[in-house]
Amino acid sequence: MRVLPIHVEPIVGETCDGYVARLAHAHAADMADIRRLAIREVGRHSWNGADPRLRDAVEQMAGIATGALMPTFEEHGMWVRCGHRDWKPRKCERCCTFAKPRAACSICAGGAWTQTIARGGPYCLEHHQWTLGDMSLRISDDAYESAERTMRTTLWERGIGLHTGELQLAATFVLAATNGSRGAAPIHARAAQHRATLSPDFGDVLTWGYPEVIRTALLLSTRSLVARVLDISRPATAQADLLARAIAEALGLAMSAELLDSSTRVVGHAHRAILHARGLRRARRTKVRPCPRERALIVASFDKRACLLRHAPPGVIRTLSEKRTGGTEPPRVTRKRELVPDELALE
Ligand SMILES: [Zn+2]
Ligand SMILES: [Zn+2]
Repeated sequence: MRVLPIHVEPIVGETCDGYVARLAHAHAADMADIRRLAIREVGRHSWNGADPRLRDAVEQMAGIATGALMPTFEEHGMWVRCGHRDWKPRKCERCCTFAKPRAACSICAGGAWTQTIARGGPYCLEHHQWTLGDMSLRISDDAYESAERTMRTTLWERGIGLHTGELQLAATFVLAATNGSRGAAPIHARAAQHRATLSPDFGDVLTWGYPEVIRTALLLSTRSLVARVLDISRPATAQADLLARAIAEALGLAMSAELLDSSTRVVGHAHRAILHARGLRRARRTKVRPCPRERALIVASFDKRACLLRHAPPGVIRTLSEKRTGGTEPPRVTRKRELVPDELALE
């Protein structure tokens, strides 16, 4: 196969689709032309960026190393709770999961649009560039840098990515705390500095409040705090107060009615999810054999869209319920379920 004349260096974790877009851009061609060349080369009928043979063909055509468009699992793999060994978060070789593709730093990508599945969030530590969806801007702020490092280390190892739901739930709390702060929250100042307005959606709250969202997500995934908040032997209102105070303190803001209201809804929802987990049985048809507690928490977190349950220790289910709330599907089905943000989270 002829190598295309213009060399395009792949970026970290770049997807095949993203790379093809850049390759086409560099050659003033259409993406469809590049795809057609690869399809013809391997004798396929259509394009699929995840097809390893098409990927090999693109790598050859571009004259880049074999495997350059396949990020290393060791460095960029997602931590999952899959039940292959147990239900704790781990990087599982058998599942070999990567994050959902996200827009990559445009400066890393030489000014063009592309996608990456590399470990991390929307902030490029090298260029101090923020890239989220079609938003791309420079933010020079130490707080963003340190938030991104937390995202790539602690949060990543708790199985948290941009798409897994925890950041969306954290953003809900940050927005509530911001609304209750009467203008004192740093988010307003940051948005104003970039002549932007803060709208109540996930992208905006994450962009102007990344450090706060990361700090809140860290709290929401801390086992000891989650264990206390999800203790259903105590009233949900008391636990909501506990969580709201912890968040207000972490954000350095005063406790407000808005924050408490948000916390009350989230904690109430999570308590109902725990009740559901307590009554789960081991299999679909079983009436009596209880589902193991670790697995019940994961199944209930999917069933009820309550991501807090993924970060709870099994001890939050103290007693199993007499009443059956449902049967669980086999682990192979559970591990294929897609993580979606909570019902109460910002989208
Ligand atoms: Zn696995
Ligand atoms: Zn960059």
